[in-house]
Amino acid sequence: MSKKILILGAGLAGLSAGFHIQNKVKIFEKEEQVGGLVRTDIIKGFVFDYDGHLLHFKTKYAKQLINKLLPDQLCAHKRNAWIYSNAVYTKYPFQANTFGLPLQIVKKCILGMLKAATKTKDKDSQNLYDWMLDSFGPGITKYFMYPYNYKFWTIPPQELIPDWTVNFVPQVKLKSVLDGAFTFKTKALGYNSEFYYPSEGGIDLVPKAFAKHSKAIYTGYEAKVIDIEQKTVLFKNGKTEEFTQLICSLPMIELKKLIVNKIPENVKTAFSKLRYISVYNLNLGIDRAKISDKHWIYYSEDKFSFFRVGFPMNFSKNTAPQGKSSLYAEVSYSENKPLDKKGIDKLIHQDLIKAKILRCDDQILVSHVNDIKYAYVVYDHNYRDCLKVLNAFLKANSIFAVGRFGKWKYMSMEDVIIDGKQIAEELDQ
Ligand SMILES: Cc1cc2nc3c(=O)[nH]c(=O)nc-3n(C[C@H](O)[C@H](O)[C@H](O)COP(=O)(O)OP(=O)(O)OC[C@H]3O[C@@H](n4cnc5c(N)ncnc54)[C@H](O)[C@@H]3O)c2cc1C
Repeated sequence: MSKKILILGAGLAGLSAGFHIQNKVKIFEKEEQVGGLVRTDIIKGFVFDYDGHLLHFKTKYAKQLINKLLPDQLCAHKRNAWIYSNAVYTKYPFQANTFGLPLQIVKKCILGMLKAATKTKDKDSQNLYDWMLDSFGPGITKYFMYPYNYKFWTIPPQELIPDWTVNFVPQVKLKSVLDGAFTFKTKALGYNSEFYYPSEGGIDLVPKAFAKHSKAIYTGYEAKVIDIEQKTVLFKNGKTEEFTQLICSLPMIELKKLIVNKIPENVKTAFSKLRYISVYNLNLGIDRAKISDKHWIYYSEDKFSFFRVGFPMNFSKNTAPQGKSSLYAEVSYSENKPLDKKGIDKLIHQDLIKAKILRCDDQILVSHVNDIKYAYVVYDHNYRDCLKVLNAFLKANSIFAVGRFGKWKYMSMEDVIIDGKQIAEELDQ
C-alpha cells in the first residue's frame, strides 16, 4: 500500500497536523464540529468558551501563523490576574507578589525564599512538594503552592512530579520576592504575562480558521476499533479506513479500548496507570455591569469550591451584552476526589457571594455548564515509565501520538499547534 496518513481528532493538534502536512490526508472527528477543547457557545449574547481559553505565544512561528489565519482579529492584553487568600488580593504570581498579605505571612515567605535561594542543590527534586520547597522555601509553599496545587490536582503534591512546572509555574529570584513584598508595582512574570483573545466572537475562531484551510475533514466519524495488524480504523458509522501511519490526538487512555489486537501485558498495565483530572466549569451571565476589573483570580483555600474564576467580559467587551457581566468558575475533581454534581452549582454560587464577586440580589441571566472529563493529565510517580512504554508501543505500530491527551502531556494551544507541525514534518519526509 502506498503511504496513507490518517488523523484522528480535529482538535487543534489534529487540525495543525492536517494543515502542515504536504501529503494527501484525511481528518476524522467524532463530534459534528471541529475544535475539541477549543470551542465556544454563544447564549443570549454571552460568549462562553469551553472554560477560559487565552492564547499565549512563546514561539514566533505560532504567533505569526495565528495572526495570518486571523488577520486583525486578535487583541493583545496585559495580564491582570490575582490570588485571593487570607481575605486579601495579591498579584499573580504569588511567589513574587506577597504585598498586601498580613506581615507575619510576608515575613515567612521572604525568610523561606532566602533559605531556598542560599541552599546548595545537590539533586533534582523528587516530588512536587520537594520542588516547591527547593524553589520557593517553606513560606511560599505553605501559604500558596501546597494548598493551591493540592486543591487543583486533587492529589497530595508528594504523589506528583514537577516535570510540567518548567513551562507553567514562573520561577523567581530572591530579588523579585523582595520587590514584590513591598509594592504592587512589580514586573509581570511567567508564560502568560501577555495574552491574545479575539476582539469579536470566542476562541473557536482559531480551530475554525485552521479548518478553512484543511483539505478533508470528516465530522461525525467516531473511531470505534483500531486494528494495528490490519492497519485499519472502523468508525461508529460503519465506515472503515486503511492507514500506513495514524496520527492520533484522541486521549491516549482510550486506545486501550479501541485497539482490538492482543497487546503486551506491560503496555496494558501502563495504560491502566494513566491518571487525569476533570474540570467542572460553570459559566454565568449576570445582570450587572463590571462585577470585576480583573482577568482571572486563583483561590487556594478550601473554603471556596473553585480554584479559579475568570471574567470573559474583560477579555473582550463583545463577550457580554452591554451593562452585563460574565464569569467562569472552575472546580477540579478526579477519582481521588469525586464531585457531587447535584449540589455543585448552588455551592459555587454561594462561594461567589462569599468571595464578594456576586451579590445576593444579583440576577443570573445565563447559567451554563461544561463538564470536561479530560482536562489535565496527572504527573504522578508512574508517569515517566508509563509514557516510555506506551510511546514505544504506539510508534512500533505506526501510531503517532499528538496533542494534549494524545501525547498525555500538559500542553497549551500553542504547544499542540507546534506539535501538529512537527509530526507533519516527520511524516512528510
Ligand atoms: C480547562 C482548560 C483550560 C485551558 N486553557 C487554556 C488556555 O487558556 N490557553 C491555552 O493555550 N490552552 C489552554 N488549554 C489547553 C488547550 O485546550 C489544549 O492544549 C488543546 O486544545 C488540545 O488540543 P488537542 O487537539 O490536543 O486535543 P482536543 O482538543 O482534546 O482534541 C481531540 C479531538 O479528538 C476528538 N476525538 C476524541 N475521541 C475520538 C474518537 N474516538 N474518534 C474521533 N475523534 C475523537 C475529540 O472530539 C476532539 O475534537 C486548556 C485546557 C483545558 C482543559
